[in-house]
Amino acid sequence: MDRLAIHTITTKAWDLPTAAAKYSSVGVRGMGVWRQWLEGRPLTESRRILDDHGISAVSLVRGGFFPYLNESEKQAAIADNLRALDEAAAIGAPQVVLVCGAKTDLPLGESRRHIEEGIASCLEHARDCGVKLAIEPLHPMYADCRSAVNTLGQANDILDRLGCPPEIGIAADVYHLWWDPNLSSEIARAGHRIIGFHVCDWLTPTNDFLNDRGLMGEGCIDIKGIRQQVEATGFQDWIEVEIFSNRWWSQDPDAYLQSILKAYSQHV
Ligand code: ZN
Repeated sequence: MDRLAIHTITTKAWDLPTAAAKYSSVGVRGMGVWRQWLEGRPLTESRRILDDHGISAVSLVRGGFFPYLNESEKQAAIADNLRALDEAAAIGAPQVVLVCGAKTDLPLGESRRHIEEGIASCLEHARDCGVKLAIEPLHPMYADCRSAVNTLGQANDILDRLGCPPEIGIAADVYHLWWDPNLSSEIARAGHRIIGFHVCDWLTPTNDFLNDRGLMGEGCIDIKGIRQQVEATGFQDWIEVEIFSNRWWSQDPDAYLQSILKAYSQHV
């Protein structure tokens, strides 16, 4: 349980102070903080709320969305990512998770070029902030508008091309990667570049592309098997429960939190 972290989006009904109190009350010490949860109060106050409950911000979600149609979109995307790095530093989060982005009006190759260029533009500020950028490859069903980086192999290639700077790592999410026939070899290739590990499950059938993820154990992903491979690279950091689910969001959140703890202990 000491490595369990929960993303605030998972327990969507709770604002930051409530989530911090509830997580803390059941012994969860890590939180993946979505940026919306920081809105409406100074960053120093958010930091204090986490500190008061003994909670560490393990990641800030999310930066990215680099592809652009014109210069002003390009600059706005970079500015937003620099802001995300500042926010992460302010709340003590060691990484900003990148949902890299894609534009339906652009060929995928162009989106991919913009992503690499965007990440490169943020490196210096990441170094100054002491915060890493975690590229999260997304399942190919999101290649239209959420991310043109869809496999771990692609993320590894980006890192290789950029010269593996220490400011960039990879967030490996079982939901996005489980189907990939090259997963084992790409995990081994990534090695220490994996700096985030996200868990949930794949439901059959999946009724909604975005908001029908399963609690660990409800679906078909070999979570323990993937965890083992990730840990064979030396990864011993937080395991982040990130579940978008209309079904679970409609349940009593306290009972859901208990279900998360049980699923984590049994299926992760
Ligand atoms: Zn994720």
